[in-house]
Amino acid sequence: MRLYSLLASAKINLYLEIIGDRPDGFHELVMVMQSVDLADRVTVRSLGTKEIRVSCSHPQVPNDKTNLAYRAAALMAEKFPDAYAKQGGVDITIEKQIPVGAGLAGGSTNAAAVLVGVDLLWNLGLTQLELQDLGAKLGSDVPFCVVGGTAIATGRGEELDFLYGLDNLYVLLAKYRSLSVSTPWAYKSYRQQFGDAYISISDSAGLDERRRRVHSGPMVAAIAHQNGLEIGQGLHNDLEKVVLSDYPKVAYLKKTMAALGGLGSMMSGSGPTVFSLVSSRQQAEQMKTQTLEQISDPDLDLWVAKFLPTGIRLDD
Ligand code: ATP
Repeated sequence: MRLYSLLASAKINLYLEIIGDRPDGFHELVMVMQSVDLADRVTVRSLGTKEIRVSCSHPQVPNDKTNLAYRAAALMAEKFPDAYAKQGGVDITIEKQIPVGAGLAGGSTNAAAVLVGVDLLWNLGLTQLELQDLGAKLGSDVPFCVVGGTAIATGRGEELDFLYGLDNLYVLLAKYRSLSVSTPWAYKSYRQQFGDAYISISDSAGLDERRRRVHSGPMVAAIAHQNGLEIGQGLHNDLEKVVLSDYPKVAYLKKTMAALGGLGSMMSGSGPTVFSLVSSRQQAEQMKTQTLEQISDPDLDLWVAKFLPTGIRLDD
């Protein structure tokens, strides 16, 4: 039986700006995405039968067709029917390390790993661009998760410009285990509160100008210079405006972590994970201890992770 074991890394957003509505109902975004080495292990095995199976022991992750990893395998079967008929189906096992519903793209990175794993199992020889295009059919974050590293993401998040891959920084990630934020809720609330300031989709010059502002802005320059201090100063997430006001525990967590120092603190994606950027593992571990001293809540989980210049990796 052939199998591939892959490490599927989480992402954080160093920058997330909402610039408008799209005709497809999604938001037009400009983001800077970063892979970190907090990762799920995704194992894909060839099955003799024409079947797709997925299993994950995490109670919040479905073991059926609604699992994004299952949907990735089903997409491969649909797009490559000859390989599916010849090679048979796939069995997918997900060992979760990335918290669920955390704004860390856990489901998306599992789907990305299945695309990469099935490509290998079926000897398809797909290019990274082809894998990214398939990923975009599954979710906005999937194309980034395939390649990983550091990238500017525009459109729904699926149009990528890869930047110098950072690997010299660390993050302390913190999330209340029992707290999840619905991504659709966060974007809907943002539209309700700030939609009046959206740039119209027909204003292509206006949209272009906003994207360009990020491309030539301080965050991208800081990344090019690998300057952790400037990256910390440039952290920005529009969704904090709606999530922090509705989730005071998350706002307090961010405030506590920010007061402990580091290069900067912010919520990732639609939250509720909060991260602090630091320049060494030792400092991240120290801040972890200090955060737990200040918030002694057994519901609070913390992880130390390193920036990663890649996305899906083979686990050897
Ligand atoms: P994003 O940052 O892309 O918004 P997230 O990290 O907030 O994603 P996920 O962990 O991907 O959120 O989970 C969101 C929902 O997707 C959960 O309710 C979960 O049940 C469902 N789901 C489906 N497949 C998976 C998977 N393979 N791993 C995690 N969650 C999954």
